[in-house]
Amino acid sequence: MRYISSRGKSPTVSAAQAIINGIAPDGGLYIPENKPSASEEDFIKWAPMPYQGRAEDVLQRYLTDFTPAEIEHCVQGAYNQTNFDHAAVAPLIELSPQLHILELWHGPTSAFKDMALQILPYLLTTSMNKTGENNQIAILVATSGDTGKAALEGFKDVEGTSIVVFYPAAGVSAVQRLQMVTQTGANVHVAAVEGNFDDAQNGVKRIFSNQDFIARLASAGVKMSSANSINWGRLLPQIVYYLSAYADLMQKGSIAYGEKVNIVVPTGNFGNILAAYYAGEMGLPLGRLICAANANNILTDFINSGVYDRNRPFYKTISPSMDILISSNLERLLAEVSGRDSVRLNQWMQQLADVGRYKVTDLVREKIQRVFWSDYGNDEETISAIRRTWEQYQYLVDTHTAVALHVYERYQDKTGDANTAIVASTASPFKFASSVAEAILPEAIRRGKDEFSLIRFLSEWTGIAVPMGIRDLDKRAVLHHVTTSPAGMQDTVADLLKL
Ligand SMILES: *Cc1c(COP(=O)(O)O)cnc(C)c1O
Repeated sequence: MRYISSRGKSPTVSAAQAIINGIAPDGGLYIPENKPSASEEDFIKWAPMPYQGRAEDVLQRYLTDFTPAEIEHCVQGAYNQTNFDHAAVAPLIELSPQLHILELWHGPTSAFKDMALQILPYLLTTSMNKTGENNQIAILVATSGDTGKAALEGFKDVEGTSIVVFYPAAGVSAVQRLQMVTQTGANVHVAAVEGNFDDAQNGVKRIFSNQDFIARLASAGVKMSSANSINWGRLLPQIVYYLSAYADLMQKGSIAYGEKVNIVVPTGNFGNILAAYYAGEMGLPLGRLICAANANNILTDFINSGVYDRNRPFYKTISPSMDILISSNLERLLAEVSGRDSVRLNQWMQQLADVGRYKVTDLVREKIQRVFWSDYGNDEETISAIRRTWEQYQYLVDTHTAVALHVYERYQDKTGDANTAIVASTASPFKFASSVAEAILPEAIRRGKDEFSLIRFLSEWTGIAVPMGIRDLDKRAVLHHVTTSPAGMQDTVADLLKL
């Protein structure tokens, strides 16, 4: 299978080359030329299989230039019991017969980004071997908080690579920041950006498209790539867990093959929900894809109106990994639903760059609305969803997952849809402990306690163990101190990579 650029002005490439390039030379995102399918027989076959077997089967359909042995090496290296603290890797937890939580945070950094970023380094180094790439690969990452740490964990000390992570200085939680600045490894770099996530992401995109800088790197034997969800190698592993969740529902007898499920995803950069869309395109029997946003509800407005308009205030919320106004992966969805009309797509993306706004055609909007439904929740509603879920099910969710649960309740109120639902749970509650504590612990207990005392208290109060990657984080040495303006990001890369 070949991969094409959403913008239609780059040559088609193999999967290996798409993963190495990250972004296409014309600034577009790689999409698979055709869509592999998942049939009833496939789901029946997957139902009794472990996660690793399902993953190998799905990846092989997209990575046709990889041998089965190479795919097995990637999957077994990533999804094992050293990296994941749950044997099922991505377990599906039943809250009620109609409501299932897909826990995607059992990896080393306690957020769903591990599902892709544990395997991406294997996919990338395998791709480099296959294509005879002999440059050093420098991974550049802009993070809203969770991608950075997950990428650092995935790429630390991986031969032939180095990694630079940019995070918004005031836009990440205490745990997220400490997870990054205490990162060990000989090839890892972390810098704070004075700005928000969009500033960091735009800065990285500018560096990727600066031909002079690319040439300068090339003369030093370095090639840049991306670990953000613009990289197909990031998105693909996420398709697996939705197919896997459906197979789990069949295996548990909760549904029979063919019964439609709704999938609810707390959304920021549109990567996770796009993976669910691809799973649906492959053949997962899909009812509605519910796109849950926080106060930065640009995607809700877009799905309901067909107008994408980033000229709006940016809010800092208690679900910081969704504080995003430019959702990169929406470009892939637009390419798919417009029938890969790259002329239109270039116009929209140009308008987004020029005036921060574009409007899709009615046909494209209707096609999107046939699959997607969207609403949002504010901080107060998020806190109250955490509390209600705890009281009703004795199940503890983080702030992002709570946004999804809140929006799903809205959806059911408005539509009466009684399909079985899979809610993507994107982070451990301990990663956002102060908000979770606010929701379920009495004020008298919380008063005067810092983030890390709250984590310990929350664990005692609920009887839930703190994940390894968060335990004792406050006792680790801070190793990274660099801060940069958005304009200084390129020089920072040059400094850190010693060019
Ligand atoms: C990244 C992230 C999201 C948003 O996912 P996208 O793929 O960017 O839409 C939601 N929740 C958490 C905890 C995250 O880390």
